[in-house]
Amino acid sequence: MSAIQRHTDLIRAEARRLGFGFVGFARAERLDEAARRLEQWLRAGAHGRMAYMENHFDLRVDPTLLVPGAKTVICLTYNYFTEEKQQDPEAPKIATYAYGEDYHFVIKDKLKSLLQFMQTEVGEVSGRCFVDSAPVMEREWAQRAGLGWNGRNTLTINPRRGSFFFLAEIVCDLPLLYDDPIRDHCGTCRRCIEACPTEAISPEGYFLDASKCISYLTIELRDEIPPEFRGKMDNWMFGCDICQDVCPWNRFSERHSEPAFEPHPDLLELTRRDWQELTEEVFGKIFKKSAVKRVKYAGLKRNIGFLRERNI
Ligand code: SF4
Ligand code: SF4
Repeated sequence: MSAIQRHTDLIRAEARRLGFGFVGFARAERLDEAARRLEQWLRAGAHGRMAYMENHFDLRVDPTLLVPGAKTVICLTYNYFTEEKQQDPEAPKIATYAYGEDYHFVIKDKLKSLLQFMQTEVGEVSGRCFVDSAPVMEREWAQRAGLGWNGRNTLTINPRRGSFFFLAEIVCDLPLLYDDPIRDHCGTCRRCIEACPTEAISPEGYFLDASKCISYLTIELRDEIPPEFRGKMDNWMFGCDICQDVCPWNRFSERHSEPAFEPHPDLLELTRRDWQELTEEVFGKIFKKSAVKRVKYAGLKRNIGFLRERNI
């Protein structure tokens, strides 16, 4: 067995042991076509007020600028699916990914363990770990590494598990065996486009106007939510799962087994009224380790208040 094959197998096995669902490998190179699409997306203003999306353009489209001598982008998925839902059907909703502890920390620790394993097993390997927080075009790499295709809802869809997973990457200077991309299986389906309450997905799909997406409005947007979205939020107060819930490929989702992603016991029990009367103390208790903390107490109150106005 060649050294490249042996390293690839070892890394795949260790990633699985650490809890990653799928592992794929792509050659680290400049993403010319994706760079053109990113430019168009930015030019259309689809990033709303996420000005940081305009930064580091060159780094985003070229991993060899992130890690000198980079050879491989190791792409990984980490499942967060659960069928558990908030019990009060009228409670303002939180996207499933944010039920448990902040995935950035949970997954970053695992990536670091994997990189350390590589350094122990292979020798000198330079690499950097990324999870949704650095200039890496995650979905482009996931597709190249054969983890799934990017569907009309613009999310990475794995034909065996759907899309309820986080993406993570290690960019490293170790050559490995590269996977083949998976072709698009959306076919004639348009469910996500039809179900999106704010028409954030373009009529043909594959293009998301993030400035209209409930995830952006409830998490990224620091100003007031524009009044045109009143009555269109489908009761989401943090993120939105609709274009995943309706996707037929998510019938293959299976429950995660990550203890850190279990929701705080109160999270699923709070009623609509409890949320409306949420105090800073309860917020601090429930979301102590959660990604919801990103919007702070005032941000969540703003979102809940915006939903409430709809009902007055
Ligand atoms: S997350 Fe919700 S608002 Fe955003 S594109 Fe999907 S369905 Fe539309
Ligand atoms: S809902 Fe249909 S069109 Fe949308 S991503 Fe899923 S398969 Fe593709």
